[in-house]
Amino acid sequence: MIDSHAHLNFPNFQKDLTEVLERAKQNGVDFIINIGADYKSSQIAINMAQDYEGLFATVGFHPESLNEEKFNSRLLEDLIGQPKVVAVGECGLDYFRIKPNDFAAQKLQQEIFIAQIELAKKFNLPLVLHCRANQKEQNSPYEQMLQILKKENVKRGVFHCFSGDWRLAKEFIELGFCIGLTGIITFPNYRHVDLLKNIPLDNVLIETDCPFLAPQSVRGQRNEPAFVKHIAEHLANIKNINMEEVDRITTQNTKKLFNI
Ligand SMILES: [Zn+2]
Repeated sequence: MIDSHAHLNFPNFQKDLTEVLERAKQNGVDFIINIGADYKSSQIAINMAQDYEGLFATVGFHPESLNEEKFNSRLLEDLIGQPKVVAVGECGLDYFRIKPNDFAAQKLQQEIFIAQIELAKKFNLPLVLHCRANQKEQNSPYEQMLQILKKENVKRGVFHCFSGDWRLAKEFIELGFCIGLTGIITFPNYRHVDLLKNIPLDNVLIETDCPFLAPQSVRGQRNEPAFVKHIAEHLANIKNINMEEVDRITTQNTKKLFNI
C-alpha cells in the first residue's frame, strides 16, 4: 500500500518518526510520499527521502504558506532538482480564509499556482493540487483551477484530498488528473458516496494527509500512514470488492503517476 500524501516532514512527527515508520511497515505501507508545503517542509521531505528507502518527496508552496513567507520560484527550483523529488506541489488555490471579494488575494494565489505549473513543466513532473473554497462556495476556486489547468495545458497530477461531487471529479479526470481520497470519505457526514460508487479505481489514489484528517475509526488521533488502510477498506466496502483489489490498483496508479 502507498500513502500518496503525508506530512511526516511536519513538526508533529519529530519525536517519534521511527515508530511511525515502523507502524506503517507493519500495516503494509511500503511507500510514503511526503508533501512539501513551503521551503522548509520541502527540504525536510527531501532529507527524509534520502534517509529512508520507501520515502519520496514533493516540493511545493501551499497557498496558505503565503501567510508566513513570500513565494520565491528560484528557491523552489533549487529544491526540485534534488534526488527522489517526484512532483511539484502541493500548490493551488485556497479561499477558505480570505474574504469572498478579496480579488487581489485570489489573483496572487493564482499567479503563484501558475509559477509552480511552469516548474512542473520544466522538470517534467506531475502536480499535487490543493483546492479549497470558502464556506459560502463563492468565487469557485475549482472552476478557476480548471480554467488555469486547461489554459496551461497540463494533464498530469493528482487533486489531493478531493471533497467535491462526482460531476466536478469527472472534469478533473477528463483533463487527465487522478483523484486523491482521504479519511474524509469515512466520516458519517461525507456527502458524496455516489462519487465513491461511480469513480473508476484507475483514477484514484489513497492518502492520509497526516497529521490531519484521521479516518473515522481512529478519529481524534494524530493521523499517520499506517491508517491509510482504513481508507482502502472503506472504499472496498462501498464498491463491494476486496481491499486487496483497492490496494493493488491504487498502488499501481501512484507508482505510475510519480514514476517510482
Ligand atoms: Zn497536504
